[in-house]
This record gives sequence, C-alpha cells and structure tokens, in this order.
Amino acid sequence: MSHLDHSTNPLTNWSGNYQYSTDQISHARSVDDVRAIVKQHDRLKVLGTRHCFNGIADSAHHLLSLGEMNRVVELDRAERTVTVEAGMKYGQLCPYLDANGFALHQLASLPHISIAGACATATHGSGVTNGSLATAVVAMEIVTADGEVVQVSREADSRTFEGAVVNLGALGVVTKITLRIQPTFQMRQDVYLNLPMAEFENHFEQIAAAGYSVSLFTDWQADRINQVWIKRRVDDSSGDSSSKSEPVFFGATPATRNVHPIGEISAENCTEQMGIPGPWYDRLPHFRMGFTPSSGKELQSEYFVPRRHAVEAIRVVGELRDHIRPHLLISELRTIDADGLWMSPFYNRPSLALHFTWKQDWPGVSKVLPMIEAALAPFDPRPHWGKLFTMPPAQLQKRHEKLPEFKQLLMGFDPQGKFRNDFLVNYLLG
Ligand SMILES: Cc1cc2nc3c(=O)[nH]c(=O)nc-3n(C[C@H](O)[C@H](O)[C@H](O)COP(=O)(O)OP(=O)(O)OC[C@H]3O[C@@H](n4cnc5c(N)ncnc54)[C@H](O)[C@@H]3O)c2cc1C
Repeated sequence: MSHLDHSTNPLTNWSGNYQYSTDQISHARSVDDVRAIVKQHDRLKVLGTRHCFNGIADSAHHLLSLGEMNRVVELDRAERTVTVEAGMKYGQLCPYLDANGFALHQLASLPHISIAGACATATHGSGVTNGSLATAVVAMEIVTADGEVVQVSREADSRTFEGAVVNLGALGVVTKITLRIQPTFQMRQDVYLNLPMAEFENHFEQIAAAGYSVSLFTDWQADRINQVWIKRRVDDSSGDSSSKSEPVFFGATPATRNVHPIGEISAENCTEQMGIPGPWYDRLPHFRMGFTPSSGKELQSEYFVPRRHAVEAIRVVGELRDHIRPHLLISELRTIDADGLWMSPFYNRPSLALHFTWKQDWPGVSKVLPMIEAALAPFDPRPHWGKLFTMPPAQLQKRHEKLPEFKQLLMGFDPQGKFRNDFLVNYLLG
C-alpha cells in the first residue's frame, strides 16, 4: 500500500537551494500503487533522490516517490543485464552486482542518486570512450498518464527507446529499468597535483585518455589544473592496465595522501586514492556512499561542448577567472562519449564537460552564468538538465536537434500534460 506524507518542513532538494512547490508526497511500494496514484491526480511529478539543482523535478500539485521500490528484479547472467525497481540508488545496486561478479560501465561522482533520476537527466561520469549512465539502459517499464504499463526497449522499438531514455521525467513514471552489465573489475585511482595549463593545452587528448576515467579539477587561477584524478582498470582487458603511477604526469606531481577536490574539505568523504586497487564501484565515484558528497551547501552548473573545441572552450572560460573566483568552490573538467539518445546533451557529440561547484550565492552566480554562456556560445554549449543555467529557452531548444521528435513522443505518451511542470513547459514547449 502506498502512503501519503504531508511534511511539516518545506520539502527541498538535496542542497537546500530549491524548495518544491508542494509538500504533498505519495510513496509507492508497487507498480499497482504507482498506477493508482497516477490515476488519482491530474498533475504530478516523480521525485528521485532530489539531487537536481533546478525545478526539473518540481510539481505545484503532487509528488510521487519510488524510494521504497528499490529491489533487484532480475539478474540475467546470460544476457548480461540487470533489471531493478526504479527507486533504487546506484549505491544500493553496485555492491550487489559486484558480489555477483558484475559491474556497470560508468558511475557519476556520487553513488547516492537514483538510477531512474540519473538516467532521466543523462547523468555522466568521465572517459573518452564512456557514454553517460543512460547509455547502459536497454529497457524500461513506464506507467503512462492513463495508468497503463508500457514496455520500452531498443529491441522492440529503437526510435521510441532513443527518445524515452533521457526523458526529463516528462513521459511518465519509470517503474523498472534494465541495465547492461559486464564482468566485475578492479580499479586504482591516482591523483596528480598542479598540471601546468600549457601542458594541458598541448596534450589535452592524451591527458583525457590517460585512464578509463579522468577528472581534472581547477579553480581557474594560476594557469594550472589543481588536481588530475586518473581512474584505471587493474585488469588486462581494458587497454589501460598500467600497474604503477608515473613519477611526473605532464609536469604534475603525484599527491602524497588522499585529497578532496575542494582543498579545505577532509578527504575522508572521498573514495580511496594513492593507487590502491579496489572494486570499480568504490573508485569510479569520487565520493563514498554514507558520506556527504561534494560540499553540501553549494550550487552546481555544467555545460557540454564538442570535445574538439575543448582547449579553446577552457581558454575562454579561463579568461573569466576574476568573475568566477569570488563564487567558485571548484570546477571539474570531464569527457563523455557521444550517444544517440535524443535529449542527451551528448547526442551525436563526443563532449567535454565544464562543471562549476559554486558557493550557495544565487544572486552572485546568476550574474556569472550569462558570461560563461556567452563565452561558450561559439561552441553551442548544452547545459546539464539537472543543474543551474540562465540560457533563454529558445537558445536551449536550438541546441537540441531532436527536440521536435521528443515533443511528438511527449504528446503521444502524455497528451494532457499530467507530467509537465513549469520547467518543462518553459524549456521544452515555451
Ligand atoms: C553532489 C552532487 C554530485 C553530482 N554529480 C554529478 C555527476 O558526477 N555527473 C552528473 O551528470 N550529474 C551529477 N549530479 C547531478 C545529478 O546526478 C542529477 O541531477 C540526477 O538527475 C539526480 O538524480 P535524482 O534521482 O536525485 O533526481 P531528481 O532531482 O529527484 O529528479 C530528476 C528528474 O528525474 C525524474 N525522475 C526521477 N525518478 C523518476 C522515475 N522513476 N520516473 C520518471 N522520472 C523520474 C524527475 O521527475 C526529474 O525530472 C550531481 C548532483 C549532486 C547534488
């Protein structure tokens, strides 16, 4: 049986910068619960783990949580897939997969997020040959606006599938999700400090491909990348199985202890570094389950540009360092492989991600974002769907070439707009 909560405190997102417009939230425990709740309400929105920084998950009417639907439904060893209930978090799934000899291809910087919520916004990690987390999806079960249960898979209908995976929560309630898995693997994580910007500019492609996943943290000051995090597989099959770290990495020197991307925060919250091998799910994310990821009191923005423009894009943002500095906690640069998912920011584009973790000062940050967006404009930046941006809807729409097809899909799945909210109306339909 589902149950309804009426919170006495205002309901906010994870970082507390966004207050949802209703505090009425139903908690479903089964697909039947979901169907009943969907039929009961004219308008509603699914809330995942509340890690988005904008209004994408908001509803002025009613919210639905699948947090209690968090079990593994089926592990298919032969097909190498796992099917889970859509409220499951990566942090819940990964140890189970590993214990059964399997792994996912990629994780975000934190394991605390729901699988369905992450895939809905094309959440990503890093690696020139790694697609976003959504590229692991092979099938989904969706409860649509009329309470019907629909199965979507690449096998059955690749067109609908490619439109529905990165769905921005707009098509219906994802109740089950099937992910591609692979044999489990061990990884090591090595951190290097103070990479000179000149080395970075001259060797960007080599640096980005130096490991299975590479993250570069910079505060944009002093012409250097502060930290380079290289995550390598410790097996023979991946092609990057080096068993020791370089004494110098393009002028950067190895860290002598674990570090946090934000210098003044304890590295206790971070996954093990210093080249110590461990399971994939304890090295791919930067932050450990059970600990606060990142800083907590923060805002986030992120823009994606074609990887071929990486060096130039970083240079033009670097020129804004004096505007950025007063508001920034840290920036992270990552790469993501292209995909064919319509609303993915990586649609048809091998990409560079320019991420900003900001102090929680929206009046200040909202003045810097238009400058960053203007500087990146020649490279057609697409913003992260779950983070903060100021780009006008018309510009955003122009940059998603599959938006007309997605709108058609939306009209088919949800003609009355049951799952639409202000964010979707403004950015997709406005
Ligand atoms: C500390 C921190 C670190 C982060 N690191 C990264 C990172 O490394 N890479 C990255 O790309 N992003 C990152 N993010 C952003 C985050 O991964 C995304 O915002 C992601 O969408 C969060 O998932 P969620 O479940 O919390 O989503 P929510 O904010 O709860 O919801 C997001 C969207 O998904 C929809 N949704 C959720 N569940 C369902 C469902 N069952 N059916 C239909 N729709 C659903 C919601 O309606 C909404 O539209 C980070 C965020 C934080 C706070």
